[in-house]
Amino acid sequence: MGKEFVDVLVIGAGPSGCVSSSYLKKNNINVKVVEKARFPRLVVGESLIPRVMDHFDEAGLFPALDKMNFEKKLGARFLRGDEVCLFDFSDKFGEGWDWTWQVPRADFDNTLANEVINKGIDLEFETEVVDIRFEGTDSVTTVKNKNGETKEIHAKFVIDSSGYGRVLPRLLDLEKPSKLSPHSAIFSHVEDINRETGTEGTLISFDIIETEVWLWVIPFSNGNTSVGIVGPTGYIEKLAENGDTTEALRKAISLSDYYVKRFGNVDFIFEPKKLVDYSCSVKKLYGDGFALTGNASEFLDPVFSSGMAFATESGMLAAKLAIRELNGETIDWQKEYSDYILYGVDVFTTYVKEWYTGNLQELFFHRPENEDVKRKICAVLAGYVWNKDNPFVKKHDTVIKNLANLIKIEKQQQELQ
Ligand code: FAD
Repeated sequence: MGKEFVDVLVIGAGPSGCVSSSYLKKNNINVKVVEKARFPRLVVGESLIPRVMDHFDEAGLFPALDKMNFEKKLGARFLRGDEVCLFDFSDKFGEGWDWTWQVPRADFDNTLANEVINKGIDLEFETEVVDIRFEGTDSVTTVKNKNGETKEIHAKFVIDSSGYGRVLPRLLDLEKPSKLSPHSAIFSHVEDINRETGTEGTLISFDIIETEVWLWVIPFSNGNTSVGIVGPTGYIEKLAENGDTTEALRKAISLSDYYVKRFGNVDFIFEPKKLVDYSCSVKKLYGDGFALTGNASEFLDPVFSSGMAFATESGMLAAKLAIRELNGETIDWQKEYSDYILYGVDVFTTYVKEWYTGNLQELFFHRPENEDVKRKICAVLAGYVWNKDNPFVKKHDTVIKNLANLIKIEKQQQELQ
């Protein structure tokens, strides 16, 4: 069996692994990436939030992405019947990017991976991690290529960015059920032949069908649009009860008064994919000689498009800490990695939970709008969930509930008058 020796082995060439490996290489670390799939490959997660731009920029990946003319995302629109709530990232509280992209991930991730290769990083496609053993912080990872040949990669540190492959959580028994109630989704892409011109055609939107059921519409610059339905797993299973996901997504689109005209009669580019009980968690985010990043660690829910931002945030931080550890520093991974990442996860968990209780929807659609509240929520939706100057970050566990209660009381008083 062949043997290779590297400082850091990154498992998976999704956005998390690409940010990690690119930053490591920039800092002269001997890094290798192994990726199970052949790119381009289809993956869900097409609506980004501005926080990711900080990471792509710092990792040196921004210029290559910027050349691709992906659709710019300046905000997001939430619809509920005739009610509309539009967030504009340039109106957010605090510092940070005020735009990002909405992207077909096959092209986006392929651009990232090619740029990683252009930077001189050894990225092996169609190479799957099948086993790992640790000797202290050193590790020996067994990988298998498409021809079934295996080899061992000796690394001083492993960053597991394997997404839903969840390599180390599986191999080291780190899986833990998510705190969120089970939700599922069905999605596909359409050739958007009925797309309106101007902003209406390109605006990313979330149409609420029922409190816990919503349709996503993510238009791409290539003329295609991603359409997906999300709901409690029981609801999605019922929608697709005869096993036909095409019919299920058609039915879902017919429930959207706003979008039925645009998408009711268009063909799906691929058979709609069903993703069941997508939320996942882990017992710990790190151990001797490894860190878990992106979807290989925790995934919450697509409603606020936080997945990619956590993938790049954790990928970047794991790389920075690994560099310091390789340079002989003792790193407090609990404090510097786990506590930090989980703070942001907790903030978004509150927002996801309060979305599905309906409390956040009360705030979004309350009129007249409170500009100050909106700016602060907007900063959270942009991914700036570590800015404790923002009370909607710092007091996330009470502020939404309290405001929603006030709105409910106000409504009750109006009804009594
Ligand atoms: P991935 O992008 O999944 O990359 C992991 C890579 O690891 C893959 O290329 C895989 O082939 C490789 N791999 C797996 N196993 C192995 C192995 N054994 N050996 C080697 N390589 C391996 N996020 C958003 O930000 N916006 C959204 O709009 C959004 N919508 C979503 C909708 C749904 C229904 C779901 C379920 C998720 C959504 N997400 C969204 C989340 C998003 O998909 C992920 O957060 C994001 O892709 C995570 O990136 P990653 O780099 O961690 O993993």
